[in-house]
Amino acid sequence: MKCDKCSASAILFQRYSGLHLCTSHFISDVEKKIKREVRKEKIEGTLAIALSGGKDSAVTLSVLNDLLSRRGVDMIAISVDEGITGYRERALESAATLVAELGIRWEVASFEQYFGVRIDQVNERPCTVCGILRRSLLNRLAKAVGASALATGHNLDDEAQTVQMNYLRGDIDRLLRLDHPAKEGLVRRVKPLKYVPEKEVALYAILKGIPINLDECRFSAGVFRAEVRDMLNDLELRHPGTKYSLVRGLGRILQLTTRSPFELGQCTRCKEPAVRTFCQSCEVLEKLRSTDLDRTI
Ligand code: SF4
Repeated sequence: MKCDKCSASAILFQRYSGLHLCTSHFISDVEKKIKREVRKEKIEGTLAIALSGGKDSAVTLSVLNDLLSRRGVDMIAISVDEGITGYRERALESAATLVAELGIRWEVASFEQYFGVRIDQVNERPCTVCGILRRSLLNRLAKAVGASALATGHNLDDEAQTVQMNYLRGDIDRLLRLDHPAKEGLVRRVKPLKYVPEKEVALYAILKGIPINLDECRFSAGVFRAEVRDMLNDLELRHPGTKYSLVRGLGRILQLTTRSPFELGQCTRCKEPAVRTFCQSCEVLEKLRSTDLDRTI
């Protein structure tokens, strides 16, 4: 099969666009989608990039480095070691290779250092704890390096799942918080891969020879998310473009809404941003200390 844009052989058929693409046109298609998001965000000064060592964050860092470093944006990769034996060490090795190749400053911090806990020790809902603590630590690290924005590697599949999960739960507050502007104490998040499907991120990383870690964490990413992922994959197969429509649809709702998505105060314990008296990290740590920690590890 030929590429629909030139005479080279196609390597991919995009069902949602109806296009067969060769390597070169596929790569420019991915980069075009990323550039469009980056242009909207008007990034200046220092940009922190959350780097896990997996495909999504590695592609984010690599493309943003090409796009922004020559425009005077100071790029700093930040990584979090959650304390998951046998998994995070290998992912951080891939991250180390990438930052060395790109010559980018890299900061790494662990849950153990900041919160005195490892995910290995958490018996109940480790993914929930991990997500809350990771968000908090990334925000602290981004502030510590003086970043005006924090780029994360969320791809189209991640975003569509999160939007759909919040609709299904009826959690409109959380839905409105997904694309928040900068707030006091909360570094603005940007998601350059938001419109790039997960499979295309993986293919892009392989074709560009970007070092990535493909290991899966031994904790599952949550039963509900897995059900929503399967449901959306099935819908996408039968109705190409479903995931894009979900994410784009939320973007349009947010443009229309005049309501401020949330008010932030300060956690009375750690002084980080909080919607209630304590921030989510302090709440979850308090619960862990009283009930859940496996102290044998
Ligand atoms: Fe953390 Fe769960 Fe992801 Fe593992 S699967 S890194 S525990 S959120």
